[in-house]
Amino acid sequence: MNLPDGLVPVAEGLHLWAPQHVGTWGFANCLLITSGEQAALVDTPYDRPMTEALIAAAGRALSADVTARTIVNTHVNGDHTFGNGCFPGAEIIATRASAEHLCREPSPQQMHFLTHGTPPDEPLGWYAREHFGRYRYEDVETVPPTTTFSGRYDLQVGDIEAELIEVGPAHSAGDLIVHFPAQRVVCAGDVLFAGDHPVHWDGPLSAIVAACETVLALDPEVVVPGHGPLMTPRDVRAYIAYLRELEALVHAHHAAGVAAAEAAADILATGFHDDLGLPERVVILTAVEYRHLDADTSEPNLVQLSAQAAAWAYRHRGPGSGLADAVTASAGERLRPPSG
Ligand SMILES: [Zn+2]
Repeated sequence: MNLPDGLVPVAEGLHLWAPQHVGTWGFANCLLITSGEQAALVDTPYDRPMTEALIAAAGRALSADVTARTIVNTHVNGDHTFGNGCFPGAEIIATRASAEHLCREPSPQQMHFLTHGTPPDEPLGWYAREHFGRYRYEDVETVPPTTTFSGRYDLQVGDIEAELIEVGPAHSAGDLIVHFPAQRVVCAGDVLFAGDHPVHWDGPLSAIVAACETVLALDPEVVVPGHGPLMTPRDVRAYIAYLRELEALVHAHHAAGVAAAEAAADILATGFHDDLGLPERVVILTAVEYRHLDADTSEPNLVQLSAQAAAWAYRHRGPGSGLADAVTASAGERLRPPSG
């Protein structure tokens, strides 16, 4: 696995461990906060080898031997929390809503089964191996939050002030963003994605827009998305436009009585933002939006939603599909040819 061996300086006291792999799942940004001997980390990687790579990169980049005693989890998806166990005794801060909805998250054991125990020639098994098979779930020791809050929480790391602001439910039930007023940086977690289509499990899309508006209202110079390269406020505004565009398309299909899976396939067949990776996530976004439009208040099933996305991806990229053939067959002449 090609992982960064250094850190990207973001602002005074803020360094990013930025895997920046687009077109696949699980490589989340982790922001290290350091001031004197104090250190904290916003989000931890998906498994132990990745977290050890982060710790080694931090050791090389920072002259002092700094150990993070405080971990902030922007939300509780495994790709932001499964490394928590590599920081024994650390305080782990998340929102109360995140802690209360931990039970929804696929466990490391379930992820191991998905990537090893499912039939590899069926859509979910194929997709899980392709996008999650690289991670070592068998070594993961999950550690839940030790400190929870609702609304706002002030965090001090040496001389650095950070405000944790709850913006969920949006991407997940309990999202928070981290604002560094003096540095004019906001670390947004998975409210924001760069480079790929986003995935949002809770929604509705208007809630993600509201969370992004909260980010912009803080007047940052730099925004750290949950995945992908650093963003500017202009990038965030473009992302909001994407969400609004998708929302209008999904609502129109819903109003016309089109089923969710069909609506997503139709939206993708028009080449909707086909410069972004992981188009199958539109299947999840559409299904989640439909749940809200249908006033379905049951707990979202993350694995079931992923299986729907896997089915779309399997049809278009699965073994034997041939991308060009699949595109031609499913999209007709409306779709531009794939750009590679
Ligand atoms: Zn993530």
